[in-house]
Amino acid sequence: MDAASALKINIGGHWRYGRGDLYATTYPATGEEVACLYAANAQDTEEAIELAHQAFLTSGWAQRLPHERAQVLHRVAAIIRERSEELAQLQRQDNGKPISETRALVASAAGTFQFFAAACETLEETITPSRGPYVTMSVHEPMGVVAAITPWNSPIASDAQKLAPALAAGNAVILKPAEVTPLLSLEIARICEEAGVPKGMISVLPGKGSVIGDVITRHPLVKRVSFTGGTSTGKHIARIAADKMMPVSMELGGKSATMVLEDADLDHAVAGVLYGIFSSTGESCIAGSRLFVAEPIYEEFMERLVAGAQALRVGDPASENTQMGPLITARHREGIERYVAMGVEEGGQIRTGGIRPSGSDYERGWFYTPTIIEGLTNQARIAQEEIFGPVLVAMPFKDETSLIEQANDSVYALAAGVWSRDFKRAWRMGRAVQAGTVWVNTYKQFSISTPFGGWRDSGLGREKGREGIFQYMEQKSMYWGT
Ligand code: NAD
Repeated sequence: MDAASALKINIGGHWRYGRGDLYATTYPATGEEVACLYAANAQDTEEAIELAHQAFLTSGWAQRLPHERAQVLHRVAAIIRERSEELAQLQRQDNGKPISETRALVASAAGTFQFFAAACETLEETITPSRGPYVTMSVHEPMGVVAAITPWNSPIASDAQKLAPALAAGNAVILKPAEVTPLLSLEIARICEEAGVPKGMISVLPGKGSVIGDVITRHPLVKRVSFTGGTSTGKHIARIAADKMMPVSMELGGKSATMVLEDADLDHAVAGVLYGIFSSTGESCIAGSRLFVAEPIYEEFMERLVAGAQALRVGDPASENTQMGPLITARHREGIERYVAMGVEEGGQIRTGGIRPSGSDYERGWFYTPTIIEGLTNQARIAQEEIFGPVLVAMPFKDETSLIEQANDSVYALAAGVWSRDFKRAWRMGRAVQAGTVWVNTYKQFSISTPFGGWRDSGLGREKGREGIFQYMEQKSMYWGT
């Protein structure tokens, strides 16, 4: 680590070193240092919030007409597109995702800014039906300083999903990226500034969640926290928020059920199930990590699935052909290995994977093989707890009733998948399964115009969609006497 090359962070619009410890970020494929920076500390966080509040009051951003803010957000989208290859490469280095995936994430971030620019243009006050000698209106106001706390698995996409609607609504934003993946968040803040978002309206505070996140959540000037991350962290934030009656939105963990019915198109389903669990190295909140296959086709399906998993190209994220990169850190890989060992102790059999890949290509990074375990029930801990890695638990099911009971038997309810050629059965299953998103004969498809979020321990509130902008605004009803 060379302190002279440390990156500056954004504290209330001022690019400077944090007052916290100097630390390095590493490339998960090789363990090599990518960048080093001084983390923000509690004092930096307080300062950023105060400066954000001043910027909200004085920069004029909130007072600009929605179509004027929209123009700036359109420019953000355009700059992201102009710099897309550079950003995709940086995202690859930041968290080790294959380049094909990081290109898609960068494109989706540009699309998110474009969508919320358009949504901003359509913000309007509405006249509500009158019940007396007055005219009633419903208007929305920005909240002031809002916070976006994001995880490491798809930083550019998570950041865009919060920054774009929060800025469109007229707020100042404190962005707290995961400690290990701050690089894209810093770049996005630079791009927003270049596009014309006033100084101070965005701060980026890399460093420890327990320090920075805590100051953010408790601070009286922070009016909303939009959080994406683990369920236990989300619950901790929600408890603090309750004391100050602060609204929160929570995009949390998952243990999504994929259901392959007897009449499914098997080739299609095999490809979809593999993509659902092993893309993003399984480090995805919506990973289809519990698989239920109809008993009569179970063995045939598993043979094809195992062959598909073994054929996946695991390796160098920079290669165009790579389908699965490394895990984020050595520690995370150890956690996954403990889960796999626990599955075996619980009586599970490893159908494929369950080891680190061997060979010189894999020696320096945090690689793991695509893993499928069977012989367990839905009650097993590895079928109930989020592993956040490339580990699939496969189980046969007998009938629709037991299938739905098992699919819904989870504290999580983020997403689900149904594979069937029978429209009516797929409809029945899709309606009966409890989840924020259900994919039928597809998986992990996303549209920014469609709301996203979880039930139960998977979260609170919805992001995306035109309505996504309103979570960053307060609603006001006005009565005009006539
Ligand atoms: P995490 O909860 O450890 O961290 C998420 C963010 O919270 C980080 O920026 C972290 O620094 C910060 N943080 C940590 N402690 C905090 C505190 N006390 N107060 C405030 N902030 C704090 O999660 P992670 O390991 O970075 O991410 C993995 C988790 O994220 C998984 O559970 C995954 O399912 C979930 N996730 C959910 C979605 C979704 O949309 N539902 C999307 C991506 C990831």
